[in-house]
Amino acid sequence: MANMTASSELPPLPEYTLEPLPPLLPWISDAYLSLALPVLAYWAMSLLFHVIDELDMFPQYRLHTPAEVLKRNHVSRWDVFRDVIIQQGIQTVVGLGLALTDPEPMQGKADYDVSVWAQRLRIAQRAIPGLLSLVGLDAVGIAKRVGQEQPMLSGALAGGIYPELTQTVLLAGQETLAPAFASWEINAAKAIYHLGIPAMQFVIAILIVDTWQYFLHRAMHMNKWLYTTFHSRHHRLYVPYAYGALYNHPFEGFLLDTCGAGIAYLLTGMTCRQSMWFFTMSTVKTVDDHCGYAFPWDPLQHVTSNNAGYHDVHHQSWGIKTNFSQPFFTFWDGILGTKWTGGDVSARYERARIAAQKKVDADNNSPAVTASSPAESKQSAQPYSNEATEATSTARAAQPALEPSIPAGKAKLQALGSRQQVLDDKQGGGKAVLAEESAEEAQAQQQLRRSPRKRSRSSGLKGFADRVGESLHGKGTGVLGVENSSR
Ligand SMILES: [Zn+2]
Ligand SMILES: [Zn+2]
Repeated sequence: MANMTASSELPPLPEYTLEPLPPLLPWISDAYLSLALPVLAYWAMSLLFHVIDELDMFPQYRLHTPAEVLKRNHVSRWDVFRDVIIQQGIQTVVGLGLALTDPEPMQGKADYDVSVWAQRLRIAQRAIPGLLSLVGLDAVGIAKRVGQEQPMLSGALAGGIYPELTQTVLLAGQETLAPAFASWEINAAKAIYHLGIPAMQFVIAILIVDTWQYFLHRAMHMNKWLYTTFHSRHHRLYVPYAYGALYNHPFEGFLLDTCGAGIAYLLTGMTCRQSMWFFTMSTVKTVDDHCGYAFPWDPLQHVTSNNAGYHDVHHQSWGIKTNFSQPFFTFWDGILGTKWTGGDVSARYERARIAAQKKVDADNNSPAVTASSPAESKQSAQPYSNEATEATSTARAAQPALEPSIPAGKAKLQALGSRQQVLDDKQGGGKAVLAEESAEEAQAQQQLRRSPRKRSRSSGLKGFADRVGESLHGKGTGVLGVENSSR
């Protein structure tokens, strides 16, 4: 046996042999699975929400009534279905292209990589005596004193010196005594390699997707040509439902969703298996944001303040120029001042419900519903001042009729900008939408004067206004995604 190497020397890294990584499922490669899973998750989740819708299982949590889905959307369910399939087709073809350039996944290097991290930890320990001396502690002295009872602590304090930790390794066919890692070093290295790094990759990927989507989505709303040419299609859904999540112009779908996810995948250096999780997670979140329900028990709606209620405001004719953040967090809206600041929106939701119900009732010849209350907010109007000055007279004229519950200040400008956007979109929006809404508003007001708190049971909205009102005032869970504590 050769001489023991110096104690300051690093424990050697193990050798490794790479071999192909067998796929998770024997009948499909991981690359194909990572493309299939998001699509499967999209339709499985959409189907679940569709069943919930059709059976009207949770009327108390609906953001909109079935009557609104029927009367307020400017696109048929079939068109939505077809366009989503087209987008998913494009997404899959691009993914297949990327998969071709990806090297074949291999395994066998994990122990080696863990040891690399253990070596880094060992090197980092060299700084401990110096750092402790800055606060007047003699690390080496303490190390000697605790040496007997706490050999590992002593080793770390001494700057990563563990003379008693050795192992025999084969070096050039000869058994050689070499330094070894402490078990805590290996465990910490494993935690970094198997948990810390993947978690960081997910967080960074989420930030990349949020940033990519926020700025492109915002640009789509700020530039009239971009809006009318591409993004207005998504906004034909004034009442979003689950599988409308990816209802987009194919170019927009490719640019925002496919490219965003692809870039996050490439930049973070995720493995194919990590990307399965990430792509599926993003898809599920987007579907959930469009599901049309504010569920108190849906974890996805509470992990971040970006949820179905938050995004629903963005789909309304008065909130379309606000709440651009998607799909995970709302911080860009917060930082850049584009969050909806009009406070309580329950009266506006109520109006839309009443109006849609009236239309359905007119079809069926049966009675309608009513109710609600407003609130106040004053905010810096900065990002919206241009919007408001450039708004056309039509958008201005609609103001008094359309905004009984929007307080003055920034919220008024946000709503004005939003109305202008609706007007700019000749196909899916236009004057007709505003005219219709102002007529609805007048009717709703009339109805409210006649029977202020009466609600029909057939509307399935019992307690809705109260619950929404509560959450909007920050007492509840904040399901409607407007300015209160965290949003
Ligand atoms: Zn939008
Ligand atoms: Zn949307």
